[in-house]
Amino acid sequence: MSATLTPHVRTAIPGPRSSELLKRQADRESNARSYPRRLPIAVARAQGSLIEDLDGNVFLDCLSGAGVLSLGHSHPDLVAVAERQLKTFVHGLDLPTGPKDDFTEQQFSMLPPAMRESTRIQFCGPTGANAVDAAIKLCKTYTGRGDIVSFQGGFHGSTHAAMALTGLVEQKAPIANGLPGVHFFPYSACHDCPLGLRPDSCSTNCATYLEKSLKDPNGGIAKPAAVILELIQGEGGVVPARLEFVRRLRAVTAELDIPLIVDEVQSGCGRTGTWFAFEQYGIEPDVVVASKALSGMGLPAAVILYHQRLDTWAPGAHSGTFRGNQLAFATGAEAIRVIRRDGVLENVRERGAQLMNRFTALQERCAWVSDVRGLGLMLGIELTDPATGERASGLAKQVQSAALEEGLILELGGRDDCVVRLLPPLTLSEAEADFAADVLDRVFARLTA
Ligand code: PMP
Repeated sequence: MSATLTPHVRTAIPGPRSSELLKRQADRESNARSYPRRLPIAVARAQGSLIEDLDGNVFLDCLSGAGVLSLGHSHPDLVAVAERQLKTFVHGLDLPTGPKDDFTEQQFSMLPPAMRESTRIQFCGPTGANAVDAAIKLCKTYTGRGDIVSFQGGFHGSTHAAMALTGLVEQKAPIANGLPGVHFFPYSACHDCPLGLRPDSCSTNCATYLEKSLKDPNGGIAKPAAVILELIQGEGGVVPARLEFVRRLRAVTAELDIPLIVDEVQSGCGRTGTWFAFEQYGIEPDVVVASKALSGMGLPAAVILYHQRLDTWAPGAHSGTFRGNQLAFATGAEAIRVIRRDGVLENVRERGAQLMNRFTALQERCAWVSDVRGLGLMLGIELTDPATGERASGLAKQVQSAALEEGLILELGGRDDCVVRLLPPLTLSEAEADFAADVLDRVFARLTA
């Protein structure tokens, strides 16, 4: 498959061969399967920003494995490194190896200089949720406390503990006896303020509420082991936290000696135009959770990076068989070299601005687009019924499937899935960004005419 191929769709979606595999999948896999319900294609191959299905339809992939494929599908430099490593050594528990050392070196080199000397890395089981779990366990061990503060609208994973920290009420409802001691606070979601305030006159009262609650001797909440948040809520609908909110959160947690965990599973590894999003907030977190794009090409890996004073764990405190994926380490180290060499972070900022301009213009034309948000290449278009003010989840679904029929893969998120989301590869070209925006223009014009 050539990377210069343009997206084209020549069958109904799903095409006949995709339909066959989707049917076989539905007959045998669990009812929990999710993406094929909205993106009904069976994949044959992929290269760069493009995916080809079994029927020869080619799509621009603005989901990129849920933000995993930072350098696109099967980047040739990463494939070469993975092939070499495959023949050398693959699975290493947590034993030291050359690729792991190189990976660690490269990861540390991407941290702000002031953090490099004081940071420790823990290799976790290879999912974001496992690393979130590790972060919580570390902070509980360090503080000897049990409660956790999390935020409404946040997403931290689907394991028992990570789900307990997540806002999704419906998903948690069937799971009895979840992790106790999790307290949800309002997030700085100014487009739909949980406190019913307006950003121009509110004095960031979401931060004030949290500060007062944490300090209130009658507030009903014991001093927590950690505060965990996404700086840009991803699954929650691409909601960047306000600068002031994050800075005040950092200040109060530092004052009270409460470790601050930033979950950068989705926002990390270049997605927002800096290596980590926290850099743009001018804060130093105590713990950073990273996973998805660490390997640059979809090989599973997850880590937490944390201040060394927290390193109170006993040997084996967070073990796991699959913590030593040498392929992921080798490609992850190479990915950072490629990102530096090819100016990928600059590309993220440029393509992000390009798409944001197009979406702002779309918002001006289309009354159903109530907000456009994002940082770098983590972008969202929120849809609201202009007549009723209700979330336009039905339209969002229609946009997703109409875009697929025009060769564009998109994601949905936010409350009731009313936000159309884009998480393209960080190597997205100018022409590809225009293709995505053109498809969205056409689809919105058609569906909201
Ligand atoms: N945290 C955040 C912010 C995420 O977006 C996700 C996945 N969407 C996770 C944690 C969980 O990662 P995983 O699916 O790899 O467990």
